[in-house]
Amino acid sequence: KTELDTPSDTILNFRKKHLGKGLSVSYKKALHIVRGDGVFLMDNEGQKYLDTVNNVAHVGHEHPKVVNAGQQQMAVLNTNTRYLHDSITAYSQALLKKLPPELCVLHFVNSGSEANELALRMARTITGQKEIMAIEVGYHGNTNAAIDVSSYKFDGKGGQGKPEHTHILPLPDPYRGRHAWETSGSKYASYAERHIEHLKIIDEKIAGFIGEPIISCGGQIVPPAGYFKEIYEYVRKEGGICIADEVQTGFGRVGSHFWAFEMHDVLPDIVTMGKPAGNGHPLAVVACTREVADAFANGMEYFNTFGGNPVSCAIGNAVLDIIDTEELQRNALEVGEFLKAELKKLQIEFPIIGDVRGAGLFLGFELVDNNKNPLPLHATYLANRMKQKHILMSTDGPEHNVLKIKPPLVFSHENASTLIVRLTQVFKEDYMNHY
Ligand code: PMP
Repeated sequence: KTELDTPSDTILNFRKKHLGKGLSVSYKKALHIVRGDGVFLMDNEGQKYLDTVNNVAHVGHEHPKVVNAGQQQMAVLNTNTRYLHDSITAYSQALLKKLPPELCVLHFVNSGSEANELALRMARTITGQKEIMAIEVGYHGNTNAAIDVSSYKFDGKGGQGKPEHTHILPLPDPYRGRHAWETSGSKYASYAERHIEHLKIIDEKIAGFIGEPIISCGGQIVPPAGYFKEIYEYVRKEGGICIADEVQTGFGRVGSHFWAFEMHDVLPDIVTMGKPAGNGHPLAVVACTREVADAFANGMEYFNTFGGNPVSCAIGNAVLDIIDTEELQRNALEVGEFLKAELKKLQIEFPIIGDVRGAGLFLGFELVDNNKNPLPLHATYLANRMKQKHILMSTDGPEHNVLKIKPPLVFSHENASTLIVRLTQVFKEDYMNHY
C-alpha cells in the first residue's frame, strides 16, 4: 500500500477526527502531495506544481546529496551529543565560517521555536530581567515564550493579547505603516527608546530585543535604513541582548548577504536559525557571542536529546555544501532581482499591485484598491487561481493581502518567467479587475 492508494478524503477525515483541530490545510481543495523534486511538488494525481512558497526546501526538494547524507549517517549511527562525534564539529566549522567571527558559539536544537525559546531564555538569564521587545505582527514560534513575543499570534485568533513583559514596536512598514514612505528608520526605532524610558519609570530594565531582519508574517516588510542599528543601540545602552531571528531569512536567501541582518549592518548578540538549515529535516541552531555563551553557562546543563545529532549534522553540512557548490546565494540575488523587476513591470500594468518588496528570493507584493485599501479576497483568489495553474503561492500580512514568494533557492530564471506569465493571465481575469 502506498500513499497513492489512500484517497485524499480518507486522509482529510482522519485528520479531522484524530489530529489537533488547530491544524490548518492550505487551499479550499486540499493538496495531497506525494513527491518533491527541486522546485517542484507532485500530487497524488501526478500533477506537477511549481513551488514558490517553501523556504524550508532551501536547496530544492529531496536534493539527492541531502538525502544521501542523511541515509548514510542514519545507517551507521545516531546518538546524542554526550558522546564525541566528528559530524558536529564538521558542521559547526562549516557554519561558523558563514558567521561573523564574534558569533562563535553554537547550540543545537530541532526547530525555529526551540531556537527562539533558548535565545529568549539566554537573554533573560544573562540580564536577570524579564522584559522583551519585539516587532508588531512578528512570529517567532509555537512555544510559550515564543508566542509571548509573537504579536501575530497573541493579537490574532485565539490569542490572549499582549503579555505583561512584552513590548511591541509598530510594524516598520515603509508602504502602509504609521510613518509610511520614511526612508530612515529613526521614527520607527524611536519607539524602542520610548519603551525603554517607560520601563525605567516603573523600575524595570530590558532583557532583550527580538526581530526578523525582514518581517515575514508582517508581509515581507523590509524595515527602513538604520532601523535595527538604532534599536540595537538603545537596547545595548541598557545592557539588553539583541536577537536576530533568521529562521526564514538566513542561509543566503536574501542574495546580497548570507544572513539578512548583514543587510542592516548590525551584529546581533544571538542569531537563531531553523527552517532551511536541514532542508526539511528538523535542524535548528542558536549562534551567539562568547560573552553570551559564557554568561548563560551558569552551571545548569543544557541538554537536548536530538539537537546536534550526527544525522542532523550530516544533513546540515550537505545543505551548506550545496549552497556553495551550486552558488545558490548568487542565484537568489540574480533570479530575485530579475523577478522583482518583472513584478514591478506588472505593477505598472495592473495597479491592483500596490507594492513590490523584499530581497533576493524573499519577495512579496501587496494587493490594494485605488485608495490603498487592502484586498484580502483578491489575494486568496489569486493564490487559488495560481494553484489551478500549477503554481503554489502563499498569502500573509496583517491584512492578508500580501502574496509571498520564497521558493527553494534553485528557482531559475525560467521558473521566474513562468510565474510572471501565469500571474499576468490571472491579473487579466474579471475578478482581479473589480474592486
Ligand atoms: N521564527 C520565524 C521567523 C518563523 O517564521 C518560524 C516558523 N514559521 C519560527 C520562528 C518557528 O519555527 P518552527 O516552526 O520551526 O518552530
